[in-house]
Amino acid sequence: MTDSHLHHYIDGKKVPGNSGRTGDIYNPAIGKVTKQVPLASKAEVEQAIAVAQNAFPAWAATPAGKRAQIMFNFRDLLKSNMDRLAESVSSEHGKTLDDAKGSITRGLEVVEFACGISQLLKGEYSESVAGGVDSWSTRQALGVCAGITPFNFPAMVPMWMFPMAIACGNTFVLKPSEKDPSCPLLLGELMTEAGLPDGVLNVVNGDKEAVDTLLTDPRVQAVSFVGSTTIGEYIYHTGTSHNKRVQALCGAKNHMVVMPDADMDQVVDAVMGAAYGSAGERCMAISVVVTVGDEPADAMLEKLVPRVEALKVGPYTDRSTEMGPVITPESRDRINGYIEKGLSEGAELVRDGRGVAVEGHPDGCFVGATIFDKVTTDMSIYTDEIFGPVLSIVRAKTYEEAVQMINDHEYGNGTAIFTRDGDAARDFSNRIQIGMVGINVPIPVPLAFHSFGGWKRSLFGDHAIHGAEGVRFYTKLKTVTSRWPSGIRSGAVFNFKAGGEH
Ligand code: NAD
Repeated sequence: MTDSHLHHYIDGKKVPGNSGRTGDIYNPAIGKVTKQVPLASKAEVEQAIAVAQNAFPAWAATPAGKRAQIMFNFRDLLKSNMDRLAESVSSEHGKTLDDAKGSITRGLEVVEFACGISQLLKGEYSESVAGGVDSWSTRQALGVCAGITPFNFPAMVPMWMFPMAIACGNTFVLKPSEKDPSCPLLLGELMTEAGLPDGVLNVVNGDKEAVDTLLTDPRVQAVSFVGSTTIGEYIYHTGTSHNKRVQALCGAKNHMVVMPDADMDQVVDAVMGAAYGSAGERCMAISVVVTVGDEPADAMLEKLVPRVEALKVGPYTDRSTEMGPVITPESRDRINGYIEKGLSEGAELVRDGRGVAVEGHPDGCFVGATIFDKVTTDMSIYTDEIFGPVLSIVRAKTYEEAVQMINDHEYGNGTAIFTRDGDAARDFSNRIQIGMVGINVPIPVPLAFHSFGGWKRSLFGDHAIHGAEGVRFYTKLKTVTSRWPSGIRSGAVFNFKAGGEH
C-alpha cells in the first residue's frame, strides 16, 4: 500500500486488496491517472460483511447516548481535519476547495443530527390500553447495512448514510465510488479515531462485483444507494428481490421557472451557482431554465452571457478558480458529445464550452460553461441528465405549459420558481410533481434535520434520506404489549374485541 495504491478499510484497519483487479483514479485537473484503487472480489466483500455482522450485537446493545458520544467526537475530528479532507476530495473530484469544504460541512450537519440519536429513538408509550395492560413501541437496529455512493459527493453522500445508520445501532459496509475513494477511506479512519469499535464501519472499494455481493448476501439487511437512475433501478430491484430494504436516490433534470416578474439579478446569480457550481456535477444542479415568455429569456441572457464569459475555469490548486474540471476524460467527451447533439438537434448554442483552454493544463478534463437557447422538449439535451456545465433554456408560452413540462419529465428531484408573485409560488409548490421545491431558492437541498429525496425516477423506495426518514429507514418498529400477573385477569379470550379489551 502506498499513497498511489489505495486499500480497503475493514475491521478498523487498512487492508490491501487481493483480487488482482484495480481501477484508475484520475486527477481531473491534469487529466492523468495518479492512483490505483483495489476492486474487491466477492470473497473480500463477504469478509467485510462478516466483520460487520460480528460487530453488530455489541454495537446494537451499546446505549444510544454512548453511540452519540462517538458521533460528537467524529464531528470534532471532521472540523479539525477539514483541510485534509477537502484536499482529498478536490484532488480526485476536481471541485474547488471551498466547494469541497461546503459539501463536507453538509455531511457534518448530518453527523450533528445523529448526535441527538437518543432523542430520535425515543419510542411511544401508552399506559392502560386495557385493564392492567400497557403498550409501547420502540425502533430497533436492523443489522448490517450497506451504502453505495456516487463520485460527485465523496464526503457528503456517505455521511448522509453511515452516521445515521451507525447512531441507530447498525453496522455498516460502505462501497464508495471507485473514482474518488480517498475521502471515504479517511472518514473510516476518523470514525475509529473517534472511538468507534472495530468492524462497525467498513469501507470496501470496488465495482459491480462488490455491489452485487452486497445486494445478494443475506446478512445485509438494508441498502442505501445514491447514483444514476439506470444503476439505481437495478439496485432497487435486485436488493428488494433479495428481501432487503432499499432506498435508491437517482438522477435528475432540475428545472428553474423564471416568471416575467422575477428579479433578474437574483435569477442570474442563482443560475450561475446552480448551473455551473461543481461543473454541473450535482444532482440538484439546475440544468434547465424555463422562462414564461420570451421577455424574461432575453433579459436573463443579456445579464447571464457576460457572467458566463467571465467565469474562471481552472484547477482547484488555483484559488481564484470558480469552476473546476469534470471527473474524467470520458466524462468530458460525453458532455462534449451532448453539445454536438444539441447543435444537430437545432438548439441555439449561445456559449460553447468545448475546448476551453486552461493554461498549463492541456489535458485537463475541462468543459467551459455552456448555454443553449430555444431548446425544445424532444431534444436529448432536454430529456437526458448531462451532468456537466450545460444549461438549456426552454421558452414556454405560459405558466401552465412550464408546470406541465416539469410534471411530464421522468425525473423529479428538485425544481425552483423565481417570482415575486405569492399566488404563483404557492400554486407551483402545491401542484409540482417534484420532491424538493425552491421558491426563489435555486438548489433547495433540505438541511440534515429534514429529509432529502426526489420523486418519480429520481428515487426508488419508500424513504428519503437523513432526518426523520433516515431514522425510519435504518430501524424497524417493535410494539410491546404487557400485562403483569398482579393485573386484572380477563380469562381466556377467543374473539377479537373492540379497542381496549384484551
Ligand atoms: P453511478 O450510478 O455510475 O455510480 C454510483 C455507484 O454505483 C458507484 O459506487 C458505482 O461503483 C456503482 N455502480 C456503477 N455501475 C454499476 C453497475 N453496473 N452495477 C452495480 N453498481 C454499479 O453514478 P455516478 O456517475 O457515480 O454519479 C452520478 C449520478 O449520481 C448522477 O446521475 C446524479 O444525479 C446521481 N446523484 C443523485 C443524487 C440524489 O440524491 N438523487 C445525489 C448525488 C448524485
